[in-house]
Amino acid sequence: APLIFWFRRDFRLSDHPGLVAAAETGRPLIPVCILDPETEALGAAPRWRLERAIACFAKTLEERGSRLILRRGLALDVLEALVRETGAEAVHWSRLYDPAARDRDSAVKSALKGAGIEACSHAGHLLYEPWTVETGEGEFYKVFSPFWRAVSKREPAEPLSPPDFDAPADWPDSDVLEDWQLGQAMQRGAEIVGRHARIGAAAAAGRLGSFIAHGIDTYKADRDRLDRDGTSGLSQNLSLGEISARVCWHAADRARQEGKTGAETFMKELVWREFAYHLLFHTPHIIDANWREEWGGFPWQQDNDAAERWRRGMTGEPMIDGAMRELYVTGTMHNRARMLVASYLTKHLMTDWRVGQRWFEECLIDWDPASNALGWQWTAGSGPDAAPYFRVFNPALQGEKFDPEGTYRAAWLAEGNDAPTETALSFFEAIPKSWNMSPDDDYPQPIVGLKEGREKALAAYGKYKG
Ligand code: FAD
Repeated sequence: APLIFWFRRDFRLSDHPGLVAAAETGRPLIPVCILDPETEALGAAPRWRLERAIACFAKTLEERGSRLILRRGLALDVLEALVRETGAEAVHWSRLYDPAARDRDSAVKSALKGAGIEACSHAGHLLYEPWTVETGEGEFYKVFSPFWRAVSKREPAEPLSPPDFDAPADWPDSDVLEDWQLGQAMQRGAEIVGRHARIGAAAAAGRLGSFIAHGIDTYKADRDRLDRDGTSGLSQNLSLGEISARVCWHAADRARQEGKTGAETFMKELVWREFAYHLLFHTPHIIDANWREEWGGFPWQQDNDAAERWRRGMTGEPMIDGAMRELYVTGTMHNRARMLVASYLTKHLMTDWRVGQRWFEECLIDWDPASNALGWQWTAGSGPDAAPYFRVFNPALQGEKFDPEGTYRAAWLAEGNDAPTETALSFFEAIPKSWNMSPDDDYPQPIVGLKEGREKALAAYGKYKG
């Protein structure tokens, strides 16, 4: 009898422990992807990017004589229907760790088991399962540095080769991906975003190879530079499992052994992702509540006009606006810029971090529930191991430091520039007409003075002291 493999955010064949285990059973495999309510709830850019990932993975499977069966509905209903239709006796999947997925998956598991179907979840999204990294006292980690020390002492198993598996005698029916209209949710610049996306496992592996060969040596020095292409850009692939963290880790570790300077810094960043999942697993409330409960009374404003200007890249602070426009057009944003815009929203504009978290969830093609929640809470000060309360980034000074010639700002801001760049103009093609913005407008005055905003934030923050 066949085995159903339910793919969610693990669109690869290489280093896929669940798939290897499923193939070892010797059963014919039916790969399945389900558009369930949790998936439908994704923001516009993550949905668009998911569609691309599914399309690419389906093609890879077809090239190997397999298929990706697409179905829409509640996950359990779909899986039960497929079990009936195909006579499958087992359903396997790779684990996810956000609260919604965990609730769904444990309900699916017990229902299937109750019906006598083998239901089996596997590791694969992370270097280590979140419960296997413990302090000496058997607790979870709340601070990054000791977490990094614990993880860096271990060595993940070697990556696994793609397994061989058989196709079933008959294939069940499949939806047509285009009918799901996942990309439609973008309703804007999908074509523009597409130019910045790196889709699929082969592209991810190629990028890792070239980054290790040409980028990792300068990574430590360049990773904070907004005007340089100094980072791997692999987050969109890691987020959808088009490449495994383990493959990245081993590639970087080999570079470290060859004496490449940035290798360990890169490994540390991979472990930040791991740490985000560790916290998400142990303290799931990090996803939508202040991690430190005492921050519940902090006087952040809910959504407001200034936050809307922040979303549109109209704050009058060139670094902030450039970054917000990069986000809207490309679905990505440099890590340093993410910290700056998050600090500006939560501190200078005194707006609830969840307002920003939601916009990132709408706009990021590398959206990731764990890293996004941790990134926002870290910057806002409400999270574990947070930025100290007095750390209010000054976007103008940060611009001088990390974009010294203004190249990044010029790449994304058109107003007031006689010869605006193509990228800066592409923002105006992507935005809805209702935003009523034109490259010929005057560049807006700052919403708030940097000094005044900082002082207001410090007065409020001083009482909480992160
Ligand atoms: P590289 O510098 O090449 O790093 C390699 C990999 O390490 C990344 O691909 C990523 O998987 C991981 N990584 C790097 N930095 C971090 C970090 N600070 N936290 C967790 N993992 C990290 N990352 C996401 O993947 N999805 C998100 O939704 C997301 N939201 C964020 C929100 C805020 C407010 C902040 C401050 C950061 C957020 N990050 C998020 C983390 C980080 O900005 C991105 O992972 C990084 O910019 C991706 O670029 P890269 O792949 O070139 O990273």
